[in-house]
Amino acid sequence: MARYTGALCRICRREGEKLFLKGDRCYTDKCAVDRRKYPPGQHGQGYRKLSDYGFQLREKQKVRKIYGLLERQFRRYFYEAERRKGITGEILLQLIERRLDNIVYRMGFAPNRRRARQIISHGHILVNSKKVNLPSYTVKGGDLVSVKESSREMPEIIESISKVEHRGIPAWVEIDSVNLIGKVLHIPSRDEIQLPVQEQLIVELYSK
Ligand code: SF4
Repeated sequence: MARYTGALCRICRREGEKLFLKGDRCYTDKCAVDRRKYPPGQHGQGYRKLSDYGFQLREKQKVRKIYGLLERQFRRYFYEAERRKGITGEILLQLIERRLDNIVYRMGFAPNRRRARQIISHGHILVNSKKVNLPSYTVKGGDLVSVKESSREMPEIIESISKVEHRGIPAWVEIDSVNLIGKVLHIPSRDEIQLPVQEQLIVELYSK
């Protein structure tokens, strides 16, 4: 299935909460979730009762939409998480959180994950001083992620990094906002991944 290219705010309204898909606009009173607190569409304001399956599905869709993943990519992460020792839901979120597009966004080099993907595919990002143009690249603890020297003047990157403090920098990354270089200090624990998600419901969904 192709990647969703429609209005991002509709996704948040469908889930009924802010998923911060756009960047700076999400932190203003222009946010669509704040202005219209009901799902989009003709029947958005009607009564909606969800089954257990419905809750599980919505939780999975929420994570997929936050990180901009296709169903098959998400499923692959789930199977990988299931294969590893530990709590499957937590490992799933850790694996997804370690994607390079997410790290670039978390470090403030891009205003949102969608733009982070483009910046990476266009070759502006280095991992440990080597160009990586795969948004799905899995970053490890201790890796250095930086903006290529010739791309450091890109207005979008400069504007994004100037607002990173406002968005909040996770405790598990460290950034040098002058030289546009960041370090992944360690793999985040579940508590450090601030995501409004009940991952256990996703595990239940795929375990049927
Ligand atoms: Fe979601 Fe951001 Fe749109 Fe608000 S502004 S609805 S948080 S994408």
